[in-house]
Amino acid sequence: MSQHGVNSEINRLLGFLVLCIAVGLLLGHVLLTIIAGALLYIAYQLANMRRLLKWLKHHRLQEVPDANGLWGEIFDLLSRRKRLEIREKKRFKATIARVTATTSALSDAVILLNTNYGLSWWNEATEELLDLKPRDAGSSIINFVRHPEFVSYLESHKYDIPLTLPSPRNMETRLEFQFTPVGEGESLLVIRDITRIYKLEKMRKDFVANVTHELRTPLTVIRGYLEVLEDNIPEQSQSEHLPKALEQMRQQSLRMTTLINDLTMLSKLETDSVNKIQEYVQLKPLLEMICDEARTISSQNHNITLTCPDDIYLLGNDKELHSAFSNLVTNAVKYSPNGKAIKVTASINLANNLLVEVKDSGLGIDQQHISRLTERFYRVDSSRSIQTGGTGLGLAIVKHILLRHDGRLQIRSTHGEGSTFTCVFPKKRIKESENSPKTNASLNSIS
Ligand code: ADP
Repeated sequence: MSQHGVNSEINRLLGFLVLCIAVGLLLGHVLLTIIAGALLYIAYQLANMRRLLKWLKHHRLQEVPDANGLWGEIFDLLSRRKRLEIREKKRFKATIARVTATTSALSDAVILLNTNYGLSWWNEATEELLDLKPRDAGSSIINFVRHPEFVSYLESHKYDIPLTLPSPRNMETRLEFQFTPVGEGESLLVIRDITRIYKLEKMRKDFVANVTHELRTPLTVIRGYLEVLEDNIPEQSQSEHLPKALEQMRQQSLRMTTLINDLTMLSKLETDSVNKIQEYVQLKPLLEMICDEARTISSQNHNITLTCPDDIYLLGNDKELHSAFSNLVTNAVKYSPNGKAIKVTASINLANNLLVEVKDSGLGIDQQHISRLTERFYRVDSSRSIQTGGTGLGLAIVKHILLRHDGRLQIRSTHGEGSTFTCVFPKKRIKESENSPKTNASLNSIS
């Protein structure tokens, strides 16, 4: 409301007062005329207030009333607001219609959840995937996906990695759940049908497992015959190349066996349950054994030392842990010239995490390779790796094993100076006293 409107209303009132006084003087009843004028003015204000009230009650149906002066300005402002509101409403409706049409076209289920995971809104695909009906609004999503892993996922507050589960409607169908908190108490759940990708992935794993299994027997036979042949080369062999050829065949068959062993290990890590035989493994004897094996591989050509407190126990699978640490120590031997030092250290850091570190002063790795080292078959220098009998799968195995133990691998290296590979395990997996019960604890029991 402008100052101009108020001023003109005051002017109108003063003009009316002057008129009343003039009429009163003419009639000889000034006071009575002023009172009658004031009553008339109040009646005029009340009438406009009534029109305003009526319009506010039924403003959707009625046009804004017409008036002069201050009331005219009030009604104008209201009329402008009304037009703006109608325009906003139209835009809002169009946006909602667009979002609804887009989400309906999605093949993924999109669900908006309120506090306590209550169903607030969902798209068409959700009705198909979870068999939801309009009457289910407000019910908890847990009533529709009852899998314990889903409940743990929701309550974990760690949603970086989506969860894959069989569909509650059909065990053959695999669903991927991605939960994202979006506002105060609200969250978005996106469910994707990944059955096709899951089946392809399973086929790939089965294929690798079957091929490695099928290759193992013929390779054993070939290696057996090669050994027999090597032991029985006739003194006056017709070909002078024969011993060399047999030696090369033996070496190559050995490489193939290592490759098959590594592929079998990877395939097992991919298919076996994570919770398989978990117990507290005392680190010192395990690392001592690995260092002894490494000294044999190096033919005592490296100075391998171990620093590890007596009483550190790590919850995990001892065979897998042996394989991971052994891969790192063997690499340090393979990629360090004779005479160099290799230090294996286990310690607890300030955050109470366990660090198992393998430090060498060997060839080192250029920075550009470091982020790719744990990829399968990635080699910095394939000729060097093949010479040392490497398959390019060792660090991929280490990474997989650490992931299964909630751990991670840190790599620091300087080309020409040496490398440090550090396995970091969270404190929830560590026990520092011999007296604590040494059980076949499962992962769930410690988390
Ligand atoms: P490989 O069986 O070839 O050793 P890995 O997966 O164990 O395969 O290692 C991948 C590559 O990382 C190796 O080919 C090698 O070039 C490099 N590498 C691994 N460990 C070391 C190390 N301690 N020093 C230098 N290079 C290393």
